This record gives sequence, C-alpha cells and structure tokens, in this order.
Amino acid sequence: MAGSFMSQLEANRSTSAHFAFDNSYARLPERFYARLPPTAVVKPQLIKLNLALARQLGLQPEWLATPEAAQMLAGNRLPPGAEPIAMAYAGHQFGNWVPQLGDGRAILLGEVRDASGVRRDIQLKGAGPTPFSRNGDGRAALGPVLREYIVSEAMAALGIRTTRSLAAVSTGERILRQEGLLPGAVLTRVAESHVRVGTFEFFANRGDVEGVRLLADYVIERLYPEARESGQPYRALLDKVIARTAKLVASWQLIGFIHGVMNTDNMSISGETIDYGPCAFMDAFHPGRVFSSIDSGGRYAYGNQPRIAHWNLVRLAQALLPVLADDETVAIASAREAIDAYPERFEAAHFAGLRLKLGLAGERDGDMDLASELLELMTANKADYTLTFRLLADGADGPVRGQFADFVAFDAWAAKWRDRLAGENTTPAERAAAMRAVNPAFIPRNHRIEAAIAAAQTRSDFSLFEELLKVLAAPFDDQTQFAHYADPPKPDEVVQQTFCGT
Ligand code: AMP
Ligand code: MG
Repeated sequence: MAGSFMSQLEANRSTSAHFAFDNSYARLPERFYARLPPTAVVKPQLIKLNLALARQLGLQPEWLATPEAAQMLAGNRLPPGAEPIAMAYAGHQFGNWVPQLGDGRAILLGEVRDASGVRRDIQLKGAGPTPFSRNGDGRAALGPVLREYIVSEAMAALGIRTTRSLAAVSTGERILRQEGLLPGAVLTRVAESHVRVGTFEFFANRGDVEGVRLLADYVIERLYPEARESGQPYRALLDKVIARTAKLVASWQLIGFIHGVMNTDNMSISGETIDYGPCAFMDAFHPGRVFSSIDSGGRYAYGNQPRIAHWNLVRLAQALLPVLADDETVAIASAREAIDAYPERFEAAHFAGLRLKLGLAGERDGDMDLASELLELMTANKADYTLTFRLLADGADGPVRGQFADFVAFDAWAAKWRDRLAGENTTPAERAAAMRAVNPAFIPRNHRIEAAIAAAQTRSDFSLFEELLKVLAAPFDDQTQFAHYADPPKPDEVVQQTFCGT
C-alpha cells in the first residue's frame, strides 16, 4: 500500500501539474506594470502551506511541499508559465495624494483559475526590490508575514472576503527594520485581483483616460461581467464596487476588525480585505479604538472605517469621471448618485448583521436602538466585544454579566432584549444556535498573534503559530480543549499598538 501511495506521489510530481497560469494582467499595456523576476534569497525554507487553499486552486499539495516548490515560493525559481510583474498604482495615504506607489515588494507571478472557475492572482510578497520600491528593500520580515497569514486565514474562516495566504517561506536572510535585524520571509498571497482604488487613481491623475478605460474594461471582464449588460457599464462597475465595499466594511464592524491603513492603495476593487499591516481585532469595545503606531490622528479608528471607505469610494468615482460620461456635468451627477447610495448600503448591511448578532431574525422599529444601547454599555464598561456577544447567546443572566461592572445597567438592557426576543418565532435553543453561528468564540487576538510570532522569531518554534491557525479555522465551534483561546488578554498581556513592519 505504502509503495503504491509513494509511486502515486511520484506520478503526480512528474505530471508537473502546478500553476496553470493564464496571465491576463500581463497582457495589458506595458505602462500598467514593470516586468521583472523576484530576487533570489539565500536559503528558502518552507514554513507553512495552506493545503486546503492549494486544492481549491487546483494545485497538488504534494508538489507544493517539494523543495522545488519552496524555491518557487521564495522567488528563486520561476514556475513555468509565470510572467512576473510589479503592478503600478498610486494612492491617498492618510488623506495625502501620492502619485506613484506600486508594488514595491510584491511580485505577481500570474493568475490561475480555481476549482470554481474564478481567476486568482498568485503573488509573492517580500520578493525583492522593484522599480516601485523607493527607499524600501523589497523584503518582508517574518513577523508581519506570519501575522498576515494568521489574520487573513482567520478572516476567511469568519466568512469575510479577503485575500488568502497560500504559503510562507523563510529566506535565510536578515533584514533591517526599526527593531533591528529581523529574519526575512516571503508570503504567497492569493487574491481575486490586486487592482486597487489607487490603480484607477494612477491613470486618472496622469490624464491617461485610455488607461482608465482599459483598466475599467479589464475589471468588468474579470470581476463584474454583469456590468457589461448595463447600458452604462462604467457606472454599473462603480455601483458594484460601492456595494461590495459597503458590505465588506460592515462585516469588519460586525466582527470588531480594525484595518489600520485604509489608504486608497489598500482598498481592493474586488471588495476583498487586503494589506494586513497594523490591523487588529478589538478586545474591549471602544469606537475610537486605534492600534496602528503610525495612525496618531486616529483617522483609521474603528468607528471611522465606514466613512473612510466612503471617502475612498469618492476617490474611485473621481478617477472614473472621464469614462462615466462625455459631458463632465453629466459624469459628476452620475458619480454623485452612485456615491450617495453608499451610506444606506452600509447601514443596511450593518443593521442586518447587528440584528443577527442579537438573535433577531425579524425586523422591528427600535432594534437599532437596542443594539446601540448595548454597544454604549460595552464602551462604558470596557466589555470584550467578541466575548460579550458569544456569551449573550447563552442568555443575559449568565456569565455575560461579568463583562459589565455596571450590571444594573446591563440587567436593564437585558430586560428590553428579553421583551424583544419574546416577539420572535424562535425557540431559545434555535436562537442560541443562530447567535453562535454569527458570533465567533475565536478571533485572532493580538496577544496570541504576538506570542506566536515571538516563539517563531526567537526560537524558530512554530507550534503556537500552528495551534493558533488550527483554532481559528473553526471560529464558531466551541472547541472546549482550546477554550482559553477565547479569553481576552490579561492586563499584562494587552497589546496597545501594532506596527506595519515595513
Ligand atoms: P503598505 O503600507 O504596505 O500598503 O505599502 C505602501 C507602499 O510602500 C507600497 O507601494 C509598497 O509596495 C511600499 N512598500 C512597503 N514596504 C516596502 C518595502 N519593504 N520595500 C519596498 N517597498 C515597500
Ligand atoms: Mg499596501
């Protein structure tokens, strides 16, 4: 048996059925990117492979685990069919216009179709300098790579649209960062597309209307083919990006996720969460919560995310103006109409999600006041966001009360909640199950991420990283043997700041 299994593995290997590349972005005009290969590293070593994602991408996991594949995932060898490019883009960073950013440390190897026919980018992040690197070294440190791997995969398991992590390899090289010399790593990032708001801004700002149109046509073809059927495909494209973004940011708010750097170059046109830098999940709830060390003004605080997304979408609408209509007044009116639909779209998604979090299947006047009052109590009592909703599934007179120092105020709220639940057509057991299906027990808590990174960095011990990934793969299951992973940090474990590590 073992022999036949091994020969089967060998047979699989020799079929070299790896990345079946079909690279549509590399077929766009040369001004959309720079062509260049990744820069080789000293000693590539596989840290982690995402086997489930590999299968979804139609890859043989056995092949991905070979030393040959590790060479490719580190950028030392190009897989057959790859056409490596660094994408050009611009963006507004903290509100300030930067005419040229671009992939300064990421190289797109190419695109493959996944098992459901969706085209996905295969990109190496930390693959060496590109013409867009400016003063950067083109590299990524191990810590941020593990962080992105953990958080992006956790987001996917939580049901939130996100780029994915296919693999992490260490480079055997040290790179210089503020903290000193750090081990380097490369992440293989998978996305439905890496086109950003800032990609449109790049062409629009140069007065390259043809570039804007080509990019819009590309995005429609790849991501929003229904828009082609509309009488106004570019307006339809804008509407669709607005709708997806509204939904995405609502899902962030509902799960307590703070992106941290919502610059327009980090806002994906496909509506995927992208660029896990100084992101964080909130422990104690507070709408003003900021983790990013570089966000001193709190521009990207939790409570600001919905309106920042709106601001970013205005930048997209502006970039699309020249293709929305020939007449500028008409184009502006069309853009405004599209943009003005955002607040309602966001609120609808957010309110719907809050109702589910509270176990309300139906919709009544006053539901949003009920939710707001709870969030206000959570703020005043520094209640843990995730734990409060998870415990609330078991009823309001149980351990959830422990989250509220002012339990008199909480009990008053709970009485209103019970009254409201009495109007629902569900049994308590059904309601509890429904609540547990939307309120996770496990989120990637900052102190757990830090501990996993510290063990990997200082002792090359990846066991905490592996265990964390395992727990986060089933965030809605009780997993009693890992119950401690649901706990908020102890006072001395609280992480106050996160860093982008670039
Ligand atoms: P980020 O803050 O990761 O969204 O990156 C903003 C810009 O800086 C992008 O153009 C990145 O490609 C670039 N960048 C970030 N880190 C590096 C690095 N280590 N080397 C070169 N460019 C980088
Ligand atoms: Mg970025």
